[in-house]
Parts: sequence; structure tokens; C-alpha cells
Amino acid sequence: MGATPKWITDYYKDFRLKERTKCFKTCLKCGETKLISKFSVDKRNLDGRISVCKACRSLEYPKYYYNNRDKILIQVREYQKNNKRNRSIYFKDYREKHGEQLKEKASKWYMSNKEAIKERNLKYYQENKEACQTRREVWIEKNKERIREYNREYKRKHKLASQGIA
Ligand SMILES: [Zn+2]
Repeated sequence: MGATPKWITDYYKDFRLKERTKCFKTCLKCGETKLISKFSVDKRNLDGRISVCKACRSLEYPKYYYNNRDKILIQVREYQKNNKRNRSIYFKDYREKHGEQLKEKASKWYMSNKEAIKERNLKYYQENKEACQTRREVWIEKNKERIREYNREYKRKHKLASQGIA
């Protein structure tokens, strides 16, 4: 007895991986640790990014693609044909069956590890301040219009509320 249940270790592994790769990821090809934005998105990967950086991929992929393009096209078509429906049905089904259970487990785990998580996040932030700050600035720059809209709406509601209208 005393062994940690599998769902906890799995969840924790997943969590750790996400944490570790929040701002940085190490490229399997060149071995350099780069900003996460230097890696393309791939939802099939646990951390949501492909393992090889964009720079390496842009060097490698055309060569590979050129030599194997017929094979690749057939593979892609086959894969899409076979998996499109199955995959989405499987995930939908799984979520429907286990969604509540998973959520509950996750939140229980979170509650009992709250302090440790907070501490780790803080530590991570301090160690990677600059990259996180950069990411934040990029995000703000990209969402300028949305933020302005949000602020306008907030002010409007606030004003109405203070006048007793809303
Ligand atoms: Zn690389």
C-alpha cells in the first residue's frame, strides 16, 4: 500500500511537462532550448508542440517531403479517411463518460497540492521572467482591440450600475 494511484502520476507527469514547456522547449534536432513559439503547434503531442523547432523543420522537411511526397500524400489521405470520424467520436464519448469524474479528480488533486503548485509557478516565473514578460507583451499587442473593447464594455456597465440603471 501507499503507492500513488496511476491517475495522479499521469496527471502530474502531464502537468509537469506542460509546466516545463510553458515558455521553453528543447529541440530534438539541434538540441537548443528555444522559446515555445519557435515550435509549431501539434495537438497530438502531450505538450501541444512538435519536438523539432521551426528552424530545423524548415531545413529538414522540404527535403524529406520532396523525396517522399507521393508516399506522404497517400499516408495523409488514408489517415484522414480512417481516423477523422473515429477519433472525434472516441474523444467525445470518453469526455461524456468520464468528464465529471476527471474534473473532480483534477480539482481534488489541485486542492491538495495548491501550495506546492503556487510555489512552483512562482519559482518558474522568477526563473523565466523575461520570456514570460515577452510572451505577455506579444499577447497584449495581438489582442489590443479586444482589450480595448473589454475595457469600454466594463466602463459602460460600471457607469450604468453606479447610476442604478443596470
Ligand atoms: Zn532545432
